[in-house]
Amino acid sequence: MRCVSEMKSEKLYELASKYMPGGVSSPVRAYKPYPFFTVSAKGSRIYDIDGREYIDYCLAYGPLVLGHGNEEVKEAVKEQLDKGWLYGTPHEKEIALAKKIINNYPSIDLVRFVNTGSEATMAGIRLARGFKERDKIVKIEGGFHGAHDSVLVKAGSGATTYGIPDSKGVPADSVINTLQVPFNDPEALTDTLAKNYEEVAAVIIEPVMGNVGPIPPQNNYLHEVRKITEEKDVLLIFDEVITGFRLALGGAQEFYGVDADITILGKIVGGGFPIGVVGGKKEIMELIAPSGGVYHAGTFSGNPVSVTAGLKTIEIIEREGLGKLNKLGERMQTALREILRNLRVEGCVSGVGSMFKVFFSPTGKEVRNYADALSCDKNKYLRFFHSMLSSNIFLPPSQFETNFISFAHTDADIERTLEAYKENLKQFRGK
Ligand SMILES: *Cc1c(COP(=O)(O)O)cnc(C)c1O
Repeated sequence: MRCVSEMKSEKLYELASKYMPGGVSSPVRAYKPYPFFTVSAKGSRIYDIDGREYIDYCLAYGPLVLGHGNEEVKEAVKEQLDKGWLYGTPHEKEIALAKKIINNYPSIDLVRFVNTGSEATMAGIRLARGFKERDKIVKIEGGFHGAHDSVLVKAGSGATTYGIPDSKGVPADSVINTLQVPFNDPEALTDTLAKNYEEVAAVIIEPVMGNVGPIPPQNNYLHEVRKITEEKDVLLIFDEVITGFRLALGGAQEFYGVDADITILGKIVGGGFPIGVVGGKKEIMELIAPSGGVYHAGTFSGNPVSVTAGLKTIEIIEREGLGKLNKLGERMQTALREILRNLRVEGCVSGVGSMFKVFFSPTGKEVRNYADALSCDKNKYLRFFHSMLSSNIFLPPSQFETNFISFAHTDADIERTLEAYKENLKQFRGK
């Protein structure tokens, strides 16, 4: 039965590969031998065309904090569809969503809606450069801010060296102004800014590294980053595309008590529909066209469907709070640590709030930055990923992507998942 049915995803993947590079619309979705093809998803579950049901911890890589197909969001979107789905004019719900964001983020006075997180970091970096009239930016090694030229820089080339493009087709010139420092290393940032601060417009950072981990900030790291950037008169951009409305309603800024100058939001803010947000203090944000000279524009920006879904999603998060979700995450992490310890598996558990991951780290050492993440055994992870898939648990298909928990995940889901971890980690049991 399974053999015959499994051929459906396999056949479709073969077909997809004829029409799309690698058969997918975004690279991480492709894994060997072939990814499953989804037919539907609801709550904590995702269903493939071969008739299998999985508990989903990939959750579309972050946006689905309420789980799949939330009924209230669906109703709100349906109502909106009856009124049209794209106007190309201002509409009232933009104001409502802007107010919601601004109420939750004390560091934000004004927002610009865009369509993706990538577009938002692109616009946010341009804004910082325009405001400071300086060209350089500092990013964190392994930090991901979307797939555009100035942030596609290979990590690991040393704290103060100039960037090398991470992709073919990115001119060396477009990353020459991107400096990099390791995460959780305030000294490296101090050194880099000491040498370059007159030319640096901004430091852009994911407050919790979400695309090589999760890797939380240690000790007072974010406070130190805030202090260092203030001392050197450099803007601090928090890329909260993952952490915004997940760690807390006010994102990592509320969770850790550190304010940014420019905040980038995305994912959850669109309630599962495409969105990005650039937010910040009035004096900075007013530089964006048409009120200022930093150009940004978009046909689909502020579209009523994404705005409606985002608005409803935030309403629900405000109503329910994030406490229970974060507790579920803590419970997951604690239980996973115990499993690793009992089985003597060489690895560690990393995470914060509803973000978590088992890293196959050498000697089980903690993962603090990109270099640490790269030292983990990604082949072991892939083996583990596939065995979890056989147990009907869908984790992200990469050692470097975060697992997410949603409002739709129940205690029973977590129990079943922990059982699967226990069972599937046995193959990596230590002596
Ligand atoms: C996903 C992500 C982005 C890019 O957002 P898209 O909507 O995929 O363009 C940017 N920054 C971070 C931290 C992300 O996780």
